Amino acid sequence: MRDESIFDLDELNEECGVFGIIGHADAAQLTYYGLHALQHRGQESAGIVTTDGQKFSVQRGTGLVTEVFNNNNIKQLLGSTGIGHVRYSTTGGTGLANAQPLVFKYAKGELAIATNGNLVNAKKLRRELEESGSIFQTTTDTEVIAHLIARSSAPNIVEAAKEALNQLVGAYALMIMTNDTLIVAEDPHGLRPLSMAKMGEATVFSSETCAFDVIGAEFVRDIEPGEMLVFDAEGMRTTTFAPKAERAICSFEHVYFARPDSNVGGVNVHAARKRMGRILAEEAPVEADVVTGVPDSSTSAAIGFAEATGIPYELGLIKNRYVGRTFIQPSQELREQGVKMKLSAVRGVVAGKRVVMVDDSIVRGTTSRRIVTMLREAGATEVHVRISSPPVKNPCFYGIDTPDREQLIAAQKTVEEIRQEIGADTLTFISVEGMLRAIGRPASERKRGHCIACFTGEYPTVLEDELVLEGKR
Ligand code: SF4
Repeated sequence: MRDESIFDLDELNEECGVFGIIGHADAAQLTYYGLHALQHRGQESAGIVTTDGQKFSVQRGTGLVTEVFNNNNIKQLLGSTGIGHVRYSTTGGTGLANAQPLVFKYAKGELAIATNGNLVNAKKLRRELEESGSIFQTTTDTEVIAHLIARSSAPNIVEAAKEALNQLVGAYALMIMTNDTLIVAEDPHGLRPLSMAKMGEATVFSSETCAFDVIGAEFVRDIEPGEMLVFDAEGMRTTTFAPKAERAICSFEHVYFARPDSNVGGVNVHAARKRMGRILAEEAPVEADVVTGVPDSSTSAAIGFAEATGIPYELGLIKNRYVGRTFIQPSQELREQGVKMKLSAVRGVVAGKRVVMVDDSIVRGTTSRRIVTMLREAGATEVHVRISSPPVKNPCFYGIDTPDREQLIAAQKTVEEIRQEIGADTLTFISVEGMLRAIGRPASERKRGHCIACFTGEYPTVLEDELVLEGKR
């Protein structure tokens, strides 16, 4: 995870992480540890809602998990069932009102909802709901789901949730909790990851498996596209709420978002990134003296590139870990004077050397230009840039914060033009086929298994809100 403030938002950001647990006396504490492991997926707000079967306990706030929770407020979260959330906002504002899990009181009781992802028909649904009298308190997509549930005439929460989910289009890993039921669901394309584990008698859910390792839970399986799991007085049952579509899990989870110690879709993230580096080396070999990765997300791919080529891997770039959200940003003038807070080039490693610099993506191009300049200023004689994702030419509508197409450098320029703009000696992006091969799906499933829309423009769902904006719906 890099800090966007230092690099003018020149990167992609994950929207959220969700965590849930049912059947454990320490539900709140374990959810806290789980959210801490998912912190890289969102740093703007965090929240936990628990139930003791009678009523909810709620703690939400803006900031990091360690800022929102303390010994005192965790103790006040009662009960053996809980859901938690870390948020990075792509839609809606950043304020406390939008911090999840969202909690509602409706005719049938209390309702808490936490989601990871983004609906592509939220605007349309919201407009329809408002026209028929719904009053919204937040600007999040999640509240749309709550209104659909609250207005349902279905006899129980499970049927109401099914009815609501069938109206949604987009990406969502979702948890819905009442005082007697927990519902966990995944969108029909399985765009966002969601896995299940066991911890003794307790069942645990998380956006990433790294949270299971932290709390000592044992991975059971991933939630299937279009699957809904229900826990209530009758125990656990699984059902599908929508016809299963072809899975299209976000390929950027493996490239950049997920933690290297997570397995996404059964494939370890670090191992997949190393293979991306190896494949980049096959696709675009180069004569050089050292390989370095942009820390931390590109380290694995850089190691893979080094292993495949025999060029030594070195720490040519060092990250300062203590640049946080509250860090005082340098003025433009200070930036131009070369005040480097976040990354530094290691002169002793790169001076007089031909350097291969591996990074995970190029969004606007400004970060890559700064890093190439930094390496040259530290004495690198050549800088060869290798990117472990294909060119990002299209915006994401599924919960990843991408700039508009006009600001995506790969949508506007050829690879050669980008090379010139960032000042590299050579520049190569991994091919789509190479990236999918690295993630490790069987050849027959490769395109179907992953979303690759930001590279190819082939979106797995209809983009209803876009059609609304264009006046076509
Ligand atoms: S468009 Fe790109 S970033 Fe968005 S879900 Fe698809 S692969 Fe992931």
